[in-house]
Amino acid sequence: MANAEVLIIGCGIAGATAALRLARNPDRQITIITRASDAHESNTRYAQGGIIGRGPSDTAELLFEDIVAAGAGVTSPKAARILADEGPQLLNEVLERIASSDRQGVLAEPEHFVEAQRRAA
Ligand SMILES: Cc1cc2nc3c(=O)[nH]c(=O)nc-3n(C[C@H](O)[C@H](O)[C@H](O)COP(=O)(O)OP(=O)(O)OC[C@H]3O[C@@H](n4cnc5c(N)ncnc54)[C@H](O)[C@@H]3O)c2cc1C
Repeated sequence: MANAEVLIIGCGIAGATAALRLARNPDRQITIITRASDAHESNTRYAQGGIIGRGPSDTAELLFEDIVAAGAGVTSPKAARILADEGPQLLNEVLERIASSDRQGVLAEPEHFVEAQRRAA
């Protein structure tokens, strides 16, 4: 590990995504570590699979308020603002890619977290 070219701390979706991206260069030496005794143990393991977008009568401001409420006091307002402003467009791009590869992205009922709007895909 002392000689690792890249050291990634954490085996959740963020660490795994970084590792996969960096592994596009097969010569790169990547080490990934976690504090958990089971490498699968992380928040990512428990994620329900919903991706927050923006519903038909939704606004960035309502989405921002829901994200902050769902965070129960620990949400970074700056991060929530970026997610509320930029996330829906990025999700649309993902859904368009899925649709063009023969699968459908649909908006689920607003039961995810404390959502006031239909917006989870
Ligand atoms: C019950 C539940 C349901 C959820 N449902 C959804 C959902 O439907 N949609 C959605 O988008 N999100 C959902 N989430 C949130 C989502 O799981 C997280 O936002 C996401 O998994 C975070 O990924 P991450 O890689 O940043 O962190 P994590 O998955 O938490 O991974 C962090 C990693 O870092 C390691 N680590 C932490 N501290 C240290 C340290 N000091 N030294 C070494 N390693 C360390 C951990 O062991 C772990 O491997 C849900 C979360 C929970 C708990």
